[in-house]
Amino acid sequence: MQPCPQIKVAENEAEFETLANRAGAMRALGYDHEELIDRAALRALLPAVADHCVGGLASMGDGYANPYRTTLAFKRKAQSLAVRFLEETRALDVSETGGGWRIETSRGTVFGQYLVNCGGAWAGAIAERLGEPVPVEAIAPMMIVTSHLPHFCEAVVGTTGRPLSFKQMPNGTVVIGGGRRGTPDMASERTELRFSELAKTARAAAEVFPITRQSRIVRAWAGIEGRMPDDIPVIGSSAKAERVVHAFGFSAHGFQLGPVVGGIVAELIVTGRTNMPIEPFRISRFAP
Ligand SMILES: Cc1cc2nc3c(=O)[nH]c(=O)nc-3n(C[C@H](O)[C@H](O)[C@H](O)COP(=O)(O)OP(=O)(O)OC[C@H]3O[C@@H](n4cnc5c(N)ncnc54)[C@H](O)[C@@H]3O)c2cc1C
Repeated sequence: MQPCPQIKVAENEAEFETLANRAGAMRALGYDHEELIDRAALRALLPAVADHCVGGLASMGDGYANPYRTTLAFKRKAQSLAVRFLEETRALDVSETGGGWRIETSRGTVFGQYLVNCGGAWAGAIAERLGEPVPVEAIAPMMIVTSHLPHFCEAVVGTTGRPLSFKQMPNGTVVIGGGRRGTPDMASERTELRFSELAKTARAAAEVFPITRQSRIVRAWAGIEGRMPDDIPVIGSSAKAERVVHAFGFSAHGFQLGPVVGGIVAELIVTGRTNMPIEPFRISRFAP
């Protein structure tokens, strides 16, 4: 992980009020890692921020991780513990056998004692096969990468009143996202960028950090992600089938939640229970 502050910027007094309310709500829940910062403190942390920004909410002991390197590290660790990965292998059908699960795949049949449905935007098909259909929607969040700029930002920055997330990489490029969406095509499993939306993201970045006007957009892409109607994932045992655990529909929060959710899924399989309060994430919340 790359340690750095995460800062949510307020662009006006109303947004600052929103952040102050959040800081209060977090403190009331017993969390003290987010601190409200005024205009001067914001400029001390982000000297390149635009003049109109009035303050922010900072989580100083935070950071970010590179998805490719992080997931590869988890994969290698799992392999060292004898986990087998079947890549480029599609699960076509699942059925119960005495005491376990039979999975028909594009490369033959696989048997397992437990079945974990972690198929992201595709997980609805497996849930439906198990008799518990869920309204998982495919969305396509978009990202921009700019050309190199001199170093001006040592934090992951978000805005409060409009979708924008922003970080400068060690090589000087800036990675800009925040949730504006392209169009997923589940038949081809590809995405299409929506340039009108992408332009809003680029404009927001330029308004919050005017220095980015000196850069060019080098590339942009969108990925496919599963979203639930209430924007929180499905995590927990199946309500219909034995020895099945669901973990999908992360609604664009799934990378940071991966390690803790992996731990919960492992606990549910090994001990049949978890001490984590996962009741709000139960699949049966979507039952008719
Ligand atoms: C552009 C973008 C930016 C994002 N930024 C952030 C961020 O900053 N922070 C954050 O926390 N999250 C972020 N997310 C969200 C995060 O990437 C997802 O929440 C996370 O990847 C979900 O993980 P998952 O394992 O549930 O699903 P996925 O990563 O979608 O993995 C599901 C896997 O299951 C496979 N699969 C599905 N069906 C089958 C089948 N029948 N047989 C075999 N395999 C199958 C799929 O091929 C896929 O590989 C972002 C997402 C995008 C697209």
